[in-house]
Amino acid sequence: MRDSTKIIRSTLTRTVAGDPIHPGPVFAAPYHTPGDPTDTPYTYARSHNPTWTHLEKAIAQMESGPGYRANALVFASGMAACTAVFGAILRPGDIVVLPSNAYYAARVLAQEYFAKMGVTLRLAPTANNAQAEHLEGAKLLWLESPSNPTMEICDIAALSEAAHKAGALVAVDNTTPTPLGQLPLALGADFSVASDTKAMTGHSDLLLGHVATRDLELRAKIDQWRTLTGGVLGPMEAWLALRSIATLPLRLERACENAQRIADFLTTRSEVETVLYPGLPNHPGHAIARKQMRYFGPVLSFILHDKVAAETFLGKSKLLTEATSFGGVTSTAERRARWGGDAIAEGFIRMSAGCEAIEDLLEDISQALDSIHP
Ligand code: PLP
Repeated sequence: MRDSTKIIRSTLTRTVAGDPIHPGPVFAAPYHTPGDPTDTPYTYARSHNPTWTHLEKAIAQMESGPGYRANALVFASGMAACTAVFGAILRPGDIVVLPSNAYYAARVLAQEYFAKMGVTLRLAPTANNAQAEHLEGAKLLWLESPSNPTMEICDIAALSEAAHKAGALVAVDNTTPTPLGQLPLALGADFSVASDTKAMTGHSDLLLGHVATRDLELRAKIDQWRTLTGGVLGPMEAWLALRSIATLPLRLERACENAQRIADFLTTRSEVETVLYPGLPNHPGHAIARKQMRYFGPVLSFILHDKVAAETFLGKSKLLTEATSFGGVTSTAERRARWGGDAIAEGFIRMSAGCEAIEDLLEDISQALDSIHP
């Protein structure tokens, strides 16, 4: 069976005459738990919930690859999933190797909390596999490819091999491509971590994260972290996510096609100084991206001359909704430097291609770029 069929089928209930073909959310705190609780699958909803289980099976299937079956655990947000890996794995005295250009909240979390609790951070850029130089003695290698928002690429398979030789575990933040676009576990990583707030669910209406692994001991540690820390996903969000992921193959294919067409178009415009998209043949990470990604992703970045040019462009566009986040059916864009925290130019724009007709998007982007000229 092809992936799109498998994903759609994974959101159905088992065939029981008279039951709905799609499940509804299960709202519960305690479950009936008579006597010895050992064999009761659900006891208290901070640990497990049937709607999570259904979603976790669907995500685990997407994260599985040739010769292995993945497990997945869902979290209340992408950051809750990142925190679970840091928290379950890192102890005082451990070393973690992070991308210096990683999603800024993950970096700040590591700097503000884990470093202050005795974990040593080593930072190096994603591009050119620069993190490979810092693996000696490390407990965890954290990768993000493509990196958000600078769209740098690293070789996940090569870095995983190097990290394992050095005795480190490997986690990949796979938010931008989703497991349909890139399979970190198949490339050798121990954890695939994602914010499913983005393309995975794609409707900009919920927060969700997950951690996938093929190792049952690692899974147990992450599961225990979730139950003990308790920042869990509500059943309504889990149910909305199940509805949403059935359309992931359609949405991702269209959004990535649109992103490629927009990136190609932007390279022809004199107002644009640089286009950062791994699908462009002249992107420094293109060859590796081709090797490890099935889609180059819905997100692209580009640099306009300065802050005024970027704000004029965003103000004149009628179809690029100015908003943070990415991966929704609606195309969005923002001047990323307005938040601070990333080493990027004032005219840096991060755009997320949605599922609109590409002709409309290109016409709109073209007229918005025209408006930059005085
Ligand atoms: N990882 C990446 C690459 C992200 O872009 C984000 C959010 O933008 C996160 C993690 C955190 O996800 P969430 O906002 O769902 O907590």
